[in-house]
Amino acid sequence: MKKLNVLTSYFNTLRENQNYKSLSEDEIFAELTKMELYRYEKVLDLPENFVSDVIFNLTNTKLLDNEKEKEIIDYFNKSLVNGIANLRLISKCLRYLLRKETDCLNALIVIDVQNDFISGNLSLKNSPAGQDGEEVVYIINSILDLKLFCSVYYTLDWHKEDHCSFVNNVKKYPLHKSFRSVENPEVFTKVIYDGEIPREQILWPSHCVQNSSGAELHPNLKIIDGAKFIYKGQHSHYDSYSAFWDNSKFSQTELFFHLLDNSIQRIFICGLALDFCVGFTSLDSAEHGFDTFVILDATRGVSENTIEEMKNRMNNAGVKLVTMETLLSFL
Ligand SMILES: [Zn+2]
Repeated sequence: MKKLNVLTSYFNTLRENQNYKSLSEDEIFAELTKMELYRYEKVLDLPENFVSDVIFNLTNTKLLDNEKEKEIIDYFNKSLVNGIANLRLISKCLRYLLRKETDCLNALIVIDVQNDFISGNLSLKNSPAGQDGEEVVYIINSILDLKLFCSVYYTLDWHKEDHCSFVNNVKKYPLHKSFRSVENPEVFTKVIYDGEIPREQILWPSHCVQNSSGAELHPNLKIIDGAKFIYKGQHSHYDSYSAFWDNSKFSQTELFFHLLDNSIQRIFICGLALDFCVGFTSLDSAEHGFDTFVILDATRGVSENTIEEMKNRMNNAGVKLVTMETLLSFL
């Protein structure tokens, strides 16, 4: 998928016009409504030139050729839940693409620095790599002290007691036929749950149960004024490693839309665990077209094998792996 800054550049002519004032989400939404685009159920069903038409109606400027128009529609399709033609969300995306340059570029996402991953039921110290999650708390605090980020997000794994990732709950959900004969699946093994679309699931000890002390952020982690909290994994039937989507991409958190609202271009990610929630968040962030960085020394992981595997996936997706030392050269 095209990077957001490439899609944004399609509108540079408009943006460079001295008289151009950024359009608001409401103005764009009103135009989409006036054009009766709410009649379409899927983004793919929208008329071929709808983006050009909206922009022409709003600015009297013709900008896009067919190729660029298709790339933008493709972007909407992959970024919005099930490609539903939700005009409010399309307005948000268009507002972002049509915005004037702003100083607000960088966001920091602090992933799951919660007690259960540090000293609780799913403590990384007891995982195969034997790493200490607590070490990232002080490193992340020093990153926050740099005050280089206009938006800061903290994510929390936030499960109900019957969540399908807990090893003790495995009997509550129908297993795919290839697993039905397995008597007692163990922690860290992978099962496949049955369903319309079978879903792979690694089994974990019970962790981060909503409102439990294990689900709280580490008490020494600095919380920045105005930061936003993103809760994930709330649906019992699906796991959510990424802060953007659940693992099957059935549903989306509000994170993507906050990033658009705040005109973010570059995303820096740190926290726990590198090979799961940090990794999958970075892959989705790159998929959404943001310039994406993972601050490696501000993360810890579960197992050496999956850490290596994830680093390869991040490299292939164009996620930049940086350290505290090299971080400043990117900001
Ligand atoms: Zn979890």
